[in-house]
Amino acid sequence: MSMPLQERSEALSILDKEILNCATDECSVGLLVVKIQRMRDVNVDLGYEHGEYILVEAEGRMQQVLRPCDYIIRIATYEYALILPKIKHKQVIVLAAKKVLQQLQKVVLINNIEVLPSSRIGIAVSPFDGAVSTELMRAADVALIKSKSDGEIYTVYSEDISQSRLSYLALERDLRSAIKTSGLEAYFQPKVDLKTGVVCGAEILSRWFSENHGVVSPERFISIAEESGLIHDLTKWSIARSMRLHSQLGKIKDHFMLSINISPVLLSESDIVYQITSAVNLWGINPVNVIVEITEGAIMADPDKSLQTLVKLHEAGIQISIDDFGTGYSSLEYLKRLPVNELKIDKSFVMRMTEDEDDTKIVQSVIGLGHNFDLVVTAEGVESEETLEKLKDLGCDYAQGFYIAKPMAEEDFIAWMKASHWPPK
Ligand code: C2E
Ligand code: CA
Ligand code: CA
Repeated sequence: MSMPLQERSEALSILDKEILNCATDECSVGLLVVKIQRMRDVNVDLGYEHGEYILVEAEGRMQQVLRPCDYIIRIATYEYALILPKIKHKQVIVLAAKKVLQQLQKVVLINNIEVLPSSRIGIAVSPFDGAVSTELMRAADVALIKSKSDGEIYTVYSEDISQSRLSYLALERDLRSAIKTSGLEAYFQPKVDLKTGVVCGAEILSRWFSENHGVVSPERFISIAEESGLIHDLTKWSIARSMRLHSQLGKIKDHFMLSINISPVLLSESDIVYQITSAVNLWGINPVNVIVEITEGAIMADPDKSLQTLVKLHEAGIQISIDDFGTGYSSLEYLKRLPVNELKIDKSFVMRMTEDEDDTKIVQSVIGLGHNFDLVVTAEGVESEETLEKLKDLGCDYAQGFYIAKPMAEEDFIAWMKASHWPPK
């Protein structure tokens, strides 16, 4: 059996040799690309040599379940190519992948600390998925990426996956250039004060009208931005664009709140605090006029990490809002500890309020809960006058929704405010 630290090119030449051998025997070569996950955490937490130890351990375990004629080749820092020659049935390759995963999912003991490395495998089979090594390797790589995006531990390559991967890559490439070349649009949706009947702020919502892909929904491009790391630049851009709007507001500035959505992936990075505070300083904006919206689900996914970032934002004078409230199973314990200023009731409850008594009760409870904790409460998704009136009766503080106005481009937003039924103070 061939052992580690051979290069990717060596794996390719072995693959080509075995593919050729199989052609005469009418059999297949299986290629498993194995990625050992969470190695960065292990290296950071336990030191680099322990990271290496886990890899050595992993190699030994893979060896135990493979045949003597199979190859284990380390092709990247945390990646292995397992080459399985002379296979008669495709199912055998999937079975081998499952056995390998079973081995890799066992605990590794390091200094008496139990470490549980998680692994994923992309699977490709010659000649179906590639007649030469480079094609087969690409297919297995694509399957591995798909595995990650679907949260599966292994994926067998198929032509469909390749198509969806290609369109994903095209979207990512165009999004990158849209962010660089001001190809995104900043839209603003007004927020009104239900007690005074005035516009008191706006939420910035990004729009992408792409030449190649048409209108791409924010859910789609935000998730691509999150996966590809583009979310940093996108957020920087949306912070700057909301500050720019603020700078044009003249005398209403002091009462005008800017709401900015912050992606969960940025919540665990202290950089976000610096980004917001430095933009606030640069544009000369009072930090209390800035609200950072973070979804309830994001906060609850890792409350302790979120707490650190939220405390820093709070200390910098920034307001904090829990978005999509009601969907993320908040514990009241955290609500008490987190430095939050606003609850934003998820639009799904607000939109159904006029038809569904239970949704009205949920909205009512959230308003009561928020007020008990001294928080302001905003309802999003207000689509009718009836809903708006009901919210006023329930004592809700602020509202947003299509009934008041849809999100608009900056100049439309400014024009709307001038002509609005909700004149700004
Ligand atoms: P969100 O933060 O919950 O934003 C509210 C969404 O509800 C927006 O969708 C808005 O257009 C929509 N909406 C507002 N009023 C109504 C209404 O009365 N009825 C209905 N049916 N919908 C209403 P949008 O703009 O498509 O954004 C979707 C999500 O994408 C946002 O949800 C937010 O999580 C995310 N997003 C958008 N722009 C950005 C951004 O620049 N950065 C980040 N991190 N996320 C963003
Ligand atoms: Ca929001
Ligand atoms: Ca929301």
